[in-house]
Amino acid sequence: MDNAIFAPDFRPAPYWWDAAPPEPPVDDPLPGRVDVCIVGGGYTGLSCALELARNSVRCLVVDENCIGWGASSRNGGLVVGGLKIANSPQAAQLPGEDRNRLVAEAIGTFRFVCDLIARESIDCDLAVTGRLSCAWSKGDYDKLAASVDDVARLTGAGAWMVPPERQHEEIGSDRYCGGQVAESAGTLHPAKYVRGLAQAAMRAGAQLTGGCKMTSLRREKTGWVISTTRGAIAATNVMLATNAYTGPEAPWFRRRLVPVASFMIATEELPEDLIREIAPKARAMADTRRVLSYFRLSPDHRRVLWGGRVGTRDMDARESARRLHRVMTQVWPQLAKTKVTHSWNGNVAFTFDFLPHLGTHDGVSYALGCQGNGVAMQSWLGFQSARAMISAQPTDSMFARFPFTTKPLYAGDPWVLPAVLAWYHLRDWIDRAKG
Ligand SMILES: Cc1cc2nc3c(=O)[nH]c(=O)nc-3n(C[C@H](O)[C@H](O)[C@H](O)COP(=O)(O)OP(=O)(O)OC[C@H]3O[C@@H](n4cnc5c(N)ncnc54)[C@H](O)[C@@H]3O)c2cc1C
Repeated sequence: MDNAIFAPDFRPAPYWWDAAPPEPPVDDPLPGRVDVCIVGGGYTGLSCALELARNSVRCLVVDENCIGWGASSRNGGLVVGGLKIANSPQAAQLPGEDRNRLVAEAIGTFRFVCDLIARESIDCDLAVTGRLSCAWSKGDYDKLAASVDDVARLTGAGAWMVPPERQHEEIGSDRYCGGQVAESAGTLHPAKYVRGLAQAAMRAGAQLTGGCKMTSLRREKTGWVISTTRGAIAATNVMLATNAYTGPEAPWFRRRLVPVASFMIATEELPEDLIREIAPKARAMADTRRVLSYFRLSPDHRRVLWGGRVGTRDMDARESARRLHRVMTQVWPQLAKTKVTHSWNGNVAFTFDFLPHLGTHDGVSYALGCQGNGVAMQSWLGFQSARAMISAQPTDSMFARFPFTTKPLYAGDPWVLPAVLAWYHLRDWIDRAKG
């Protein structure tokens, strides 16, 4: 048990909440009837509410916890658009025109979120830093090299390879086998972003309320009755935006989502020359492992924020911090004596085809399943859901085109995850050993 890694002011809470804590719920009266009731107050629900309210649709966002409490105020704040989807096997299997549309839509989410932040003047430390993908193995480097021209063409921005001998220009580490830089990516302060989205939605006329859990849904002739812990609400439409926190009250959706914990730490403030050595370009960074690490500097460039999947479920914050610190110092041995000030986790939602899904099921609108890349994507999908409700037409988003499937006997409890994680670790090590 290495307790020496903990700073005296260590806190088992998101670093982001120091500057933008989720606001405690206020017990304000619920409206009797709205046009749209949105369940879930993260990027998806708030982006949907903002667009609805801008179009004079009366909407209410309810969240079981505080508004913004979920993954939206806990994530790494890496804004990478849909680069991963563009290079996914799922995209590769589509016929030419569909593939192009899917990729264009996925990539376009980065521009969408930048424009949204500018239009609403959201103060959330957005910086277009570019992304460094660090190759875990020689084979991964070759795969990145094979995709680099496509990345440049599709994003319309620079993308280039960083060979191992020049790696130190990008990252002060010998752990990786080179990497790829893509300029069309950045970082933001996730909790400031979700707070800004909530403020923008309220300015536009949406009502938001925390501490209000949806317990059941009932369809009636004129719409829906949403039962909550604070009373019933009647609504013409319902939107489910609960992502990895979808509970047994929405069983059809829960069967289609695999919630996986993701963990993060923040370090104490580091000397400027050490920061310059380890992350000279201050990019959004992630490696190519199946059990990946993602990392970046804090918006003031004084700390390291390090994330990864060091477990599959909720875990004691000190234990996850020890595991993340170990992985971080394998990459940056320079940080061996660096102390941890914050440690936290949240849930990300995977789907069985590794694609986000958008649409309606039995009349319930939904936008779910961002595979851990939701800052831009979920903001976009929430907006798309709103557009579909406003036009009363099915969306033409490519993410509504794929069947939202489940697996036999899966009810929403991913008990096999520890075995899957162990298997992925093994495959990462085999890849590395192959050179
Ligand atoms: C540690 C971590 C790091 C991540 N890093 C990145 C990153 O760097 N870049 C990136 O793009 N993505 C990242 N992600 C993913 C990203 O944060 C999510 O995709 C995104 O925030 C999902 O937004 P959302 O609005 O769909 O869901 P959430 O923000 O999770 O909101 C769902 C909300 O639904 C509420 N809810 C659930 N059930 C009910 C109910 N019955 N009634 C009322 N409310 C309910 C919950 O309280 C919750 O607040 C990360 C996620 C985590 C956890």
